[in-house]
Amino acid sequence: MAIQVTRTYVASIRNQQQVKGDLDSLGFAASKLWNIARWTIERIWSETGTIPEDGPLKAYLKNHERYADLNSQSSQRVIEELAEAFRGWYAKRRNGDDRANPPKYRKHNGDHPRSTVTFKEDGFKHDSHNNWIRLSKGRNLKNHWSDFILCDIETRPDVVVENVRQVRAVWNGDEWELHIVCKHEIEAESPGDETVGIDLGISNFAAIAYSTGDHELYPGNALKTDERYFAKEIAKCNSSRSNKALRLRRKRSERRSHYMHAVTRHIVTECVERDVGTVAVGDLEGIREDDETVEAQNWGDRGNEGLHRWAFDRFTNLLTYKAKAEGITVVTVSERDTSKTCSWCGQKRKANRVERGLYVCRGCDAVMNADSNGAENIRRRLDQAEKVTLNPSADRSSGRVARPVVNLFRRGERDPSCGQGMFAEQASICKP
Ligand SMILES: [Zn+2]
Repeated sequence: MAIQVTRTYVASIRNQQQVKGDLDSLGFAASKLWNIARWTIERIWSETGTIPEDGPLKAYLKNHERYADLNSQSSQRVIEELAEAFRGWYAKRRNGDDRANPPKYRKHNGDHPRSTVTFKEDGFKHDSHNNWIRLSKGRNLKNHWSDFILCDIETRPDVVVENVRQVRAVWNGDEWELHIVCKHEIEAESPGDETVGIDLGISNFAAIAYSTGDHELYPGNALKTDERYFAKEIAKCNSSRSNKALRLRRKRSERRSHYMHAVTRHIVTECVERDVGTVAVGDLEGIREDDETVEAQNWGDRGNEGLHRWAFDRFTNLLTYKAKAEGITVVTVSERDTSKTCSWCGQKRKANRVERGLYVCRGCDAVMNADSNGAENIRRRLDQAEKVTLNPSADRSSGRVARPVVNLFRRGERDPSCGQGMFAEQASICKP
């Protein structure tokens, strides 16, 4: 089975000295266009009360003189980025983050910073034989001897640059580099027919139920400990904008990101081993609903909702991306009632309850880990027509549902691929 995946490679530019001046002009031009669009949004916003989308904005600015400083696709991308930044800000405000600010103008003490410039299909040519990438300038910046920028690129030796879809010129603080987005077709084994349900939460970051009957838990301790630590340390800083606070935020973001990579990689590996073809993740609605506990309120300094949304989006994106490379599909399904329904007898009864993390069913006397029960119900959403399997005679006390495998995140153990913490199966289960 052939699957399309995109990869972004960072290339250094060997003839930096020759192209720097030209790339600078494009980077400054992108900042100027950003500011013009930013100002235009401000004006339309104050007159009409609504923030214009990128479509009308592009149409409006198309004839502006600065629009022709860049290739028209590059100019379009600047405006799209600004519109995305506005949407992101608006979403944060709607979620109750009062501290979020709208996108800023790109100016520092009268100087324009070097903005990233994106080149789409019309804007670049890749010569794989000579390892060159040719970038287009806008009409205004072309002069009689050169209307393009020829970059001599160097990538890691194991990287094959082919089927380039997009190139971004990025100023890394010291010099320009190119981020090259390639589309690869890879051969993946056809995935199996098994299915998985994933329930995301706080005390267990993820509970996994496989159609093979296996259950796994990923306790959220490591993530929670980090959140508390960083919230405390950032609170100690004199100013939230101090260098120390900034450094702590960056560190926290690295550690969150590493955790997400590790947990999704671990889950995908387990799925491949079990011939899983489809993964169901319970949607965000459920996370908010179920986590109104004291513990949840202690999470981070950005407010629970912000972190939940962040964690859910990041997890789902990474899982989808990693699963895709193995031919596995990830879908989100509604989490409604999945925590209240008994995954053994399929009944939702008022008398059923959750006690110390255990789901207790009054109807069939099943006792199981509450998160595993939720995950199993989420898995069944994949096929609504699938009959709930009744297991009246099964021995529930020793069933797999009652004893999920617990994968603990250990910072002390080094994952050989990245040198950071990794997941390891817990030897004995303290909590069912
Ligand atoms: Zn039951």
